[in-house]
Amino acid sequence: MENARFRSSGDLAGVRGEILRPGVQGYEEARQLYNGMIDRRPATIVRCAGPDDVVRCVDHARENNILISVRAGGHGVAGNALNDGGLVIDLTAMRGVLIDPFGRTAWVGGGTRWMDLDPVAQKYDLATTGGRVSSTGIAGFTLGGGAGWLMSRFGLACDNLRSAELITAQGELISANSKDTPDLLWALRGGGGNFGVVTALELDLHPVGTTLSGLLQWPRSKALRVLQAFRALALEAPDELGLVFACVTDSRGIPAVTVTVCWTGEISEGEKILAPLRSMESPTVDTVGRMRYDQVQTMLDYTGVWGSRNYWRSGYIPELTDEAMDTILANTALMPSSLAAIHLWAHHGAANRYSEDATAFPNRRYPFNLHIIGAWTDPLVDAEGVAWTKRFYEDMRPHFLDRSYVNFDNLKEGSRVEGAYGPNYQRLVEIKTRYDPENLFRSNQNIRPRDGS
Ligand SMILES: Cc1cc2nc3c(=O)[nH]c(=O)nc-3n(C[C@H](O)[C@H](O)[C@H](O)COP(=O)(O)OP(=O)(O)OC[C@H]3O[C@@H](n4cnc5c(N)ncnc54)[C@H](O)[C@@H]3O)c2cc1C
Repeated sequence: MENARFRSSGDLAGVRGEILRPGVQGYEEARQLYNGMIDRRPATIVRCAGPDDVVRCVDHARENNILISVRAGGHGVAGNALNDGGLVIDLTAMRGVLIDPFGRTAWVGGGTRWMDLDPVAQKYDLATTGGRVSSTGIAGFTLGGGAGWLMSRFGLACDNLRSAELITAQGELISANSKDTPDLLWALRGGGGNFGVVTALELDLHPVGTTLSGLLQWPRSKALRVLQAFRALALEAPDELGLVFACVTDSRGIPAVTVTVCWTGEISEGEKILAPLRSMESPTVDTVGRMRYDQVQTMLDYTGVWGSRNYWRSGYIPELTDEAMDTILANTALMPSSLAAIHLWAHHGAANRYSEDATAFPNRRYPFNLHIIGAWTDPLVDAEGVAWTKRFYEDMRPHFLDRSYVNFDNLKEGSRVEGAYGPNYQRLVEIKTRYDPENLFRSNQNIRPRDGS
């Protein structure tokens, strides 16, 4: 396959998109991310108009030894989408969706968000596994793995990545696909932004229409009973059922527990499967009902507060013992703010049937992922919020597998990134060395090339 090359002079002359520098109108806004704790000041933010602009940025950065960050939806809480003093390749203007209803695929631009794709795909009764807050960027989400409501039925988002177009460290536009570049496609399925700037993604779509979905809520005093019932349901759940247990503070400021569900099978069968949970311990809220999938995709939007301050950790739980549940509930009693929460995601079905080495994302065998969401708005809570998250994580360590999920964690390079990829790390290093030997793309959960910088 031929690689495409746009002519680039090695400087930013000829860039079609906006160039934002400190003092220029729009710069301050362009350096805001979801996580309000991230306060970085890049020297230049280029809001790329297309792949040709991305090539100009990559060539300029490589030739002048400038640090690059890549920004899509801006949801990465680690803040790698920005840097201090370097160049940001901002893809927020590259949002676009093209559906092929016959081939059941969607092409999306590198800056597209789930809110752009889901409603359009639903016009054809199609969908793919996506983020559970609709403003999340498709690229960052998918490249890191991508856990969503449909994963037990159709796999993770990365399993549905059929092909991608990306700009390499050499400034070439190449295709990652199963025929010509299978190693690169394998690496993009979970290996993050390490291999280039992805300017377009091709995703598999599946038939999904009306679902049985919604939220059940109980007072926190019922937490243990609800968690036990959730565990039992999750361990037996059919592929058609996506579900999460959460400890939250409700809109009246009262501590609560919730189970949120998305059933994509026959509605009558879903009603039977969910009936015991819905009648258990008299939930104070029950919104479960018929819902289009694009509505499902926005039902947790209220939990994602743009600009809130966030510090997250996560871990996979091979066995959710009574002791692990006690540890979870004891720590949630000490949450630092009403925005903080824990989500316990059930991982089962199709996502877990892939072998560990089928894609770069290796975490296939573990039935639960605990997401500790330290979140608050007041900067004065920073120290307490970070300490709560770290303490919670340490307390859970005996129950966690030593594997993180790169999309939920702030991993620095080194052992924790290596740990996140487990047996797949060495193959990722080989592919990184082939495509980015100088580690140009390192503002990410970094996989270092062999003998690289
Ligand atoms: C409110 C909220 C809800 C979330 N819900 C879920 C969920 O349900 N399931 C789940 O699995 N995760 C979830 N996440 C985590 C999310 O998947 C990650 O934060 C992901 O990195 C976000 O991608 P982004 O494009 O929005 O972020 P960005 O911050 O723009 O990007 C994050 C990183 O991804 C890489 N990247 C992004 N785009 C590209 C590209 N085009 N080419 C190359 N590299 C790129 C870069 O390294 C970048 O630093 C959620 C996050 C938030 C804040």
